[in-house]
Amino acid sequence: MDHQTLEPHVLIFPIPFQGPVNCALKLAELLCLSGIHVTFLNTEHIHRPLLRHTQVLSRFNRYPNFRFQTIPDGVEHEKPVSGDRFMEVMDAVDVVTKPLFREMMVSGGLSRKSERPVTVMIPDACFSFAVDIAIEASIPVIYFETIGPGALWTSHLNLPTLIEAGDVPFKGNDLDQMITSVPGTEHIIRRRDLDSFCRFNDLSNPGIEFIVKQAHAIPRAQGLILNTFEELDSVVLPHMQKLCPNIYTIGPIHTLHKIELMANTKPSSQEITFSNSVWKEDQTCMSWLDKQDPKSVIYVSIGSLATMTVEQLLEIWYGIVNSRKPFLWVRRPGSITGGHDECRVPVELLERTKEIGCIVEWAPQEDVLAHRAIGGFLTHSGWNSTVESIAEGVPMVCWPYYADQQTNSRFVGEVWKIGIDLKDTCDRLQVEMAVRDIMDSKHNVFRQFANTWANLAKESITKTGSSSIHLGRLIDYILTMRS
Ligand code: UDP
Repeated sequence: MDHQTLEPHVLIFPIPFQGPVNCALKLAELLCLSGIHVTFLNTEHIHRPLLRHTQVLSRFNRYPNFRFQTIPDGVEHEKPVSGDRFMEVMDAVDVVTKPLFREMMVSGGLSRKSERPVTVMIPDACFSFAVDIAIEASIPVIYFETIGPGALWTSHLNLPTLIEAGDVPFKGNDLDQMITSVPGTEHIIRRRDLDSFCRFNDLSNPGIEFIVKQAHAIPRAQGLILNTFEELDSVVLPHMQKLCPNIYTIGPIHTLHKIELMANTKPSSQEITFSNSVWKEDQTCMSWLDKQDPKSVIYVSIGSLATMTVEQLLEIWYGIVNSRKPFLWVRRPGSITGGHDECRVPVELLERTKEIGCIVEWAPQEDVLAHRAIGGFLTHSGWNSTVESIAEGVPMVCWPYYADQQTNSRFVGEVWKIGIDLKDTCDRLQVEMAVRDIMDSKHNVFRQFANTWANLAKESITKTGSSSIHLGRLIDYILTMRS
């Protein structure tokens, strides 16, 4: 079997969270469009809500070379509603999924001994165990990393360096101290901008161990896929390449996916949705946006895992309302902790919200950010949201919650100059001022920089753009790995 020429067959295996699955489905479709067979391995608890998302399912049903497969994960809840459950889910995957996955790849249904063997594995970069399984199964592996490259470089790949230099764990509380041990970001990153996993103050924390394992696994893979474009992450990519020489920057993946889909399938406008959102989107906000003035609306969303307390909710709410900008706010069920009760919200806040606000539980975010009425985005700085905002030239107010978001927001403020980082603060006056600063049109440098980056993002996905070239390289690599 080993020397036989096989059909190219990729296994894509995302971590079981809304954002990474959404992003991995885009990669899957890009590969399907090139005729490559794709098996998309979802763990059971994240696949369940997707089964109800008929638009997404019917789009993928059109590809004879695509199939979903599921694997148990030991996670009972259907919706992991908050990021503090991240390690709980990853631990369950480690105990339940890992041995099943190994069996599947080494001797089971997707192994070299099977009818249609997998020829290249593309697991999420959080699955550090995948590289050993790939070696055991004699299958090349390319990691797909869906966090921001700035955080990947400073806090993940360099965590052993940070520990050796004594930068992690933090001694003392000076969060403004610069981190000088990581090449490339010496003048950018402070302690407070490192991935929040680095804020644990003892090395025995499972979060630290989780990332150190990743730091050792990623460079052992044959390649690394990132949702960015060369220009955007030019501060860290040349350094990262010394450790991982074969990097495919194929971002913004959602716009690359969109143009490739349009070019290949020529769908009618009613027929197509580009979204792979695991949860159902409330489309009513789009008609609300249609009624607003150009660039007048601030969009507020903290993604699929972040939460806020009732006190933080009220600070942000007052800040937004006091800025007097119309707002569209995604309030995901379960995202407000500490017993939020709408009856206890001051009546004047509710009244003013009725006048200028629209609140939904889940929005079609890519379409929202592309809408002419959107002038700013108050975000938790998740990497997908950040890239989606950059692609549309929308300036951001960043209120990072955890993980790579701490670094993404620093890059937004300090490197790309397209927004304001409110990290570690939550005060209504600051929110109000920041929203005004990024949205008011007089000499708005944030918008000017945002337009420049959006143009570079657009160039990167043209036929001769860097992201299209990297996607072509990735496809060529997969096509050659046939035996
Ligand atoms: N998203 C969406 N509707 C919403 C809020 C978010 O479709 O109402 C999508 C958004 O477009 C992005 C993803 O959910 O692709 C969130 O990913 P991100 O990395 O920003 O944050 P996470 O949810 O992983 O914390």
